[in-house]
Amino acid sequence: MSGRTPARACPERTCVGCRERAAKDDLLRIVAVEGECVPDHRGTLPGRGAYVHPALVCLDLAVRRRAFPRALRAQGPLDTEALRQAVEKTVAEKATP
Ligand SMILES: [Zn+2]
Repeated sequence: MSGRTPARACPERTCVGCRERAAKDDLLRIVAVEGECVPDHRGTLPGRGAYVHPALVCLDLAVRRRAFPRALRAQGPLDTEALRQAVEKTVAEKATP
């Protein structure tokens, strides 16, 4: 938490999986790096970002409808294996406080 984060507007993004709007903080930012979907946990990676709930249902939906290449303007298909593992880890971490 940085001390001077403006609190007046709560930025919202649309999850590319379930297509629901959610607070940016509740979504995981994804960027394409060399043909691969990379989770951007800190929101600092350059380039276009796609947002998805850190949940496997949303990830599966996004993969099934090829939302990532579309949202990230990728030339070809994007590998989501590393992303899936990251989401699985996030889910597991949430389950065990
Ligand atoms: Zn979602």
